[in-house]
Amino acid sequence: MAEKSPLLELAHVTQAYGTRDRRFTAVRDVNLTVREGEFVALLGPSGCGKSTLLRLIAGLQQPTEGGVLYRGTALSGVNPRATIVFQTFALFPWLTVQENVEVALKARSVPPKLRTARALDLLDRVGLDGFETAYPRELSGGMRQKVGFARAMAVEPELLCLDEPFSALDVLSAEALRGELLELWAKGVIPTRAILMVTHSIEEAVFMADRIVVMDKGPGRVAADLPVQLPQPRQRKAPAFLAVVDRVYAILAGQTQPEYLELGSAPGEPGLTRRLPPITINGLAGLLERVDELANNRADIYRLAAELTLDSDHLLHLTEAAELLGFATIAQGDMTLTPLGETFAEASILARKEIFATRLRRLPIFKWLLDTLRALDPSELEWEEVRAALEEKFHPEEAGRQLDIVIDWGRYSELLAYDDANGRIYLEPGGAPGPTPA
Ligand code: ADP
Ligand code: MG
Repeated sequence: MAEKSPLLELAHVTQAYGTRDRRFTAVRDVNLTVREGEFVALLGPSGCGKSTLLRLIAGLQQPTEGGVLYRGTALSGVNPRATIVFQTFALFPWLTVQENVEVALKARSVPPKLRTARALDLLDRVGLDGFETAYPRELSGGMRQKVGFARAMAVEPELLCLDEPFSALDVLSAEALRGELLELWAKGVIPTRAILMVTHSIEEAVFMADRIVVMDKGPGRVAADLPVQLPQPRQRKAPAFLAVVDRVYAILAGQTQPEYLELGSAPGEPGLTRRLPPITINGLAGLLERVDELANNRADIYRLAAELTLDSDHLLHLTEAAELLGFATIAQGDMTLTPLGETFAEASILARKEIFATRLRRLPIFKWLLDTLRALDPSELEWEEVRAALEEKFHPEEAGRQLDIVIDWGRYSELLAYDDANGRIYLEPGGAPGPTPA
């Protein structure tokens, strides 16, 4: 198939903010092309300039350097072919659902007679048939966001820009709306030719997009651009899906050493097993949050120990865990967050669990336990059986300590369940996907 023509091109775009003597470069030398027919996801830690790029594309601001081209022509002023849907769409509370959509049509000078028909049609397409006369306050968050989508569609954008459109919704509404958007897009019932979606969620990007552009900050730039060659609809638990998720995580975490050195091996395999440091997730999250607040997301480890009144052994365990999970790099007594670490520090509780689960699945000790449980029917094991198996790698007491850490982390990330009463370890549904990709 011949390459479709570019709809949008960012060419060497740099955006600085501030005054002459206090200048701050938000994004530097960004090149990005979005072609007709593409659904592109933009991923990266907060502050890397994702929203800035959307505003440039919509023509709401002009870059300090470089060009924004739309269908090959340099953009001047607002881009009439692009619309942004924000995280929470500001609806007018005193207008009905239908009137909220008609307002957008009015702004586009659609004659009054046509407005009603168009608004009703749009509301029908996003699944709000029957709610035309409702007021925003009477709707759920998911339905309000659908009104937002209908209003964005009213201007028939060729390029639909979405800025974290699902992050303010509850899990179920978000999932339903994702499915509906993909369906509208796939069926071609909306005039949209391309979608550019900013998201914080790696899984969401892999679930929806044809291409994922990963940004990094300091200053904001494109770090990677990878295609997602999975047919739609996608299965979140499919090994091929998880393989792409893992690749994106690896980009965000930055591979420091070859995986076999970094992670060690599991029982039944040759080589040492890497010990898991004895830390709590809360302790780790607290540390990452603190470093995330510091300049350049970097901290001197010993100064941090004093500040957080942690003894240095404990802090070293925390930094070791952060490194093992790809949340930070340690060099010359400094700890620096990776983009994945920043993402974790700034994520919701639910998103944190998801990130944690994905990182754990690649640790040999977890992979081994999950695979073993999966092969059993029912998927459960005695604590003591597992501890005994771990004696192949650790001395008896350490084997028990390691298993307790595995259970603690596994419970947090909802991969494993443990019944204190009968001392049995179970596989959680989240731990159930097929064999973890290597
Ligand atoms: P993201 O959407 O990835 O979180 P933004 O594009 O919102 O990132 O911001 C990128 C950087 O630019 C941040 O450090 C932010 O504080 C800064 N920034 C964004 N908009 C402005 C502005 N209007 N004036 C000054 N600084 C800004
Ligand atoms: Mg933003």
